[in-house]
Amino acid sequence: MAKRKLSQVAKWDHEFVWHPFTQMQDWLAQEPVVIERGEGVYLIDENGKKYYDGVSSLWVNIHGHNHPTLNAALKEQVDKIAHSTLLGLVSPPSAQLCKELVELAPEGLNKVFLSDDGSTAIEIAIKMAYQYRQQVGQTEKTKFISLNAGYHGDTLGTVSVGGIQLFHQVFHNLLFKPITLPSPGVYRDVADREASFEESLAELERILDEEGHQITALVMEPLVQAAAGMLVMPHGYLKRVRELTAAHDVFLIVDEVATGFGRTGTFFACEQEGVSPDFMTLSKGITGGYMPLAATLTTQRVFDAFLGTFEEKKTFYHGHSYTGNALACAVALASLQVFRDEKVMEGLPRKIEAFTNALKPIEQLEHVKEVRQRGLIVGIELEQDVATHTPYRPNDAVGAKVAVLARESGLICRPIGDVVILMPPLVSTVEQIEDMVRIVGESIRIATEEEHVLEGMRPIIL
Ligand SMILES: *Cc1c(COP(=O)(O)O)cnc(C)c1O
Repeated sequence: MAKRKLSQVAKWDHEFVWHPFTQMQDWLAQEPVVIERGEGVYLIDENGKKYYDGVSSLWVNIHGHNHPTLNAALKEQVDKIAHSTLLGLVSPPSAQLCKELVELAPEGLNKVFLSDDGSTAIEIAIKMAYQYRQQVGQTEKTKFISLNAGYHGDTLGTVSVGGIQLFHQVFHNLLFKPITLPSPGVYRDVADREASFEESLAELERILDEEGHQITALVMEPLVQAAAGMLVMPHGYLKRVRELTAAHDVFLIVDEVATGFGRTGTFFACEQEGVSPDFMTLSKGITGGYMPLAATLTTQRVFDAFLGTFEEKKTFYHGHSYTGNALACAVALASLQVFRDEKVMEGLPRKIEAFTNALKPIEQLEHVKEVRQRGLIVGIELEQDVATHTPYRPNDAVGAKVAVLARESGLICRPIGDVVILMPPLVSTVEQIEDMVRIVGESIRIATEEEHVLEGMRPIIL
């Protein structure tokens, strides 16, 4: 990249901003892309260059940027009030949103606790499940089960139930220790994955038989372990986990933060296996990608265990300053309206199929180990030598190089290690999806096959 004079914004960025999940040493050595505007599926930088938003601004965007309905909802709400607390008060958008979420959610989930991020939604589910057991006299039920390679956020409670060593290991001594269930998703061979399906369930059954009376809940991502590199779970796994946990009176917390709001082809991923969990967490897509907001849905049974007089101390003492924010709830309602107006779910099967077809040539590339897809989520895993299962060395930063090449060709994507991620906004047309896949495919081909092109390219470690 030619060295240009940094813009004022870029200078401030380099001087004052610490970026999330970013090795700042590498960051500071390069010119940042400054996004000034968005239009539909495009991001537009300060020099007017347009890029596809190929990861939906970290998996949150649904209907595109600058959507007239979402913009209007925000403008209308801000002229009434931006925020009033949900502690002791209620507002029209928060009440209506909770009602609509319950109507959309799997049967049995009929109470909604609002917060601001995916992490807080899981924290709340964990704390509610735990407090529930204490309040109904199941005081020995204090343990949790989580899956290896799971990801549920970056706060300490959610890191405790996380299973990604790179992110979580350093905090080991600060965490509570759940029982780890081997995830069938971690096997990167289809055959191994299928074989491990029964093994994982047998292990779960053993844990539940031996320790079920001490376990409050199992936490998992449905269908796809996203942050671990879009690891796909074999079909039927979620349903079997639901059956086993129900039989042992262990709550199932399904983390739909990444999968909710149409991402996997159904409105919620749970629907694909007919599963109704005890807790469901939502965030990312909930406002169409506009505002931070999250929801923890649970059952009447859980809710009722928190009812009592003040002296009984059964209150759920948890809340955040911006819980139930009116602007966020108003734009979330508008997003649900767009789902109906634009028949978003009806349009998905065509797009998902086109995505699958467009990805086929990528599967044939020499260094592509596997293309894993669920709906409009895809992870393309790269390997130095596919035949001998030899991974790239971390310093090769091959995923990051693909991202840099893609960016030069007008597509923003962010890899997870050697897995290239593509997650187009749901509003993307078939043609746009095909074009995004074309750019990613070409970037992978250059990054993995044309060594000389990459010489001197400074890897940004993403
Ligand atoms: C992103 C994510 C989270 C964390 O959400 P934040 O809003 O980043 O706190 C939790 N669970 C899953 C499955 C996620 O993908």
